[in-house]
Amino acid sequence: MSESGAPESVELFRAEVARFSAAEIAPGAQAWDDAERFPRELFGKLGSLGWLGVGLPEKLGGSGGGAVERAVLIEELARASAGVALGIYVHSALATAAIATIGSAELRERYVPRLVSGELTGAWAYAEPDSGADVTRVRLRAAQEGDSFALTGTKLYITNGTFADVLVVVARTGGEPGSLGGISVLVVDGDAAGLERRPMSKLGMRASELGELHFDGCVVPRRNLVGDLGSGFRQCLPVLSQGRVFGGALALGLGGAALSEAARHVAVREQFGGPLSRQQAVRFTIADMAARLRAARALVYDAARRLDAGLDYDTDASIAKLFASETGTWLAERALHLHGAQGFMADGIAQRCYRDCKILEYGEGVNELQREMIYKAVANGFRP
Ligand SMILES: Cc1cc2nc3c(=O)[nH]c(=O)nc-3n(C[C@H](O)[C@H](O)[C@H](O)COP(=O)(O)OP(=O)(O)OC[C@H]3O[C@@H](n4cnc5c(N)ncnc54)[C@H](O)[C@@H]3O)c2cc1C
Repeated sequence: MSESGAPESVELFRAEVARFSAAEIAPGAQAWDDAERFPRELFGKLGSLGWLGVGLPEKLGGSGGGAVERAVLIEELARASAGVALGIYVHSALATAAIATIGSAELRERYVPRLVSGELTGAWAYAEPDSGADVTRVRLRAAQEGDSFALTGTKLYITNGTFADVLVVVARTGGEPGSLGGISVLVVDGDAAGLERRPMSKLGMRASELGELHFDGCVVPRRNLVGDLGSGFRQCLPVLSQGRVFGGALALGLGGAALSEAARHVAVREQFGGPLSRQQAVRFTIADMAARLRAARALVYDAARRLDAGLDYDTDASIAKLFASETGTWLAERALHLHGAQGFMADGIAQRCYRDCKILEYGEGVNELQREMIYKAVANGFRP
């Protein structure tokens, strides 16, 4: 065990990712944000280090390690750029994880090694114009035609959607909007005929890319079905539950960056004859930021450890995601506040954290739904 309570190997891994992020991500973070461009070369770099397969068992084509290691990776990437961490998270923990854990042996063989090496890039395409928090409202139609499906409809807000080679698409093969039954999952190759993509511009997470996808009779072979016909989405729910832990880890990285930047700034900015950090109110704000971040970290890694130990972790994941995302937003806002006008300028870390944080409150299941799930668990005897 290291001083932090995590196994030594985890802390060594954290230090390695932190070094990589400082050298390879932090220097480009603002330029990628300005250009709204994900640095695609990172897929190859992270793939060659084996990091795109972290958290995925070796028998499924991953590099081993568990949820704790994947959370460490995402947290440390997010300290340098939350947008970069988001793109990597979606590629690994959603798209690759869905194919690896639910897909057939043939799908796994065809895609997982190339996704893990970074040769291919992945996206998870669930959201639609009428299907956001309510997952039963999926309308994108996958009509069976012989040994294929023809996809027709629209996906919105798809991270990596502008460039991904492999789109893991949630589609309706039966049933009606309003029910989970009949929702399937299909792998669509990025160059499939009948697929058109448009970039979407956004407030934050601008170092990631967001796409609008239009499917117009896009033909997908039946062998690309992930899981069973009509219940693939239900089978993917454990992957999405795990995603709440990693969404929490992303918020930790973002919050950590906001805190470091605020602490650095108040130590050097002078007003009233000395650094801002001489003011007790400023010192107390930094202390409160540290305390909340520490609490969020305990929740996120506790949920990750439960997941790795095979214990029930669902409510813990909801609590961790809820608390860490709202803590991230609060830390980012406080960091911006402590920067005064300097923070309001368009090129600092504080303003980027402030723009990046908000999505974490409604990505991976809106926080109101997390509160509903936590309430139900408490009503059923869950003891926090
Ligand atoms: C930067 C970014 C990246 C994204 N990446 C992806 C991606 O890779 N793949 C993908 O599929 N999607 C992605 N999304 C979309 C994401 O899945 C949706 O934002 C999410 O599903 C919520 O849907 P919505 O935004 O349409 O919100 P809505 O469903 O319209 O909800 C809006 C608000 O209503 C309130 N609300 C909703 N339901 C309830 C309820 N039951 N009780 C109380 N209040 C409620 C909440 O305050 C919520 O924030 C991304 C979005 C962004 C902005």
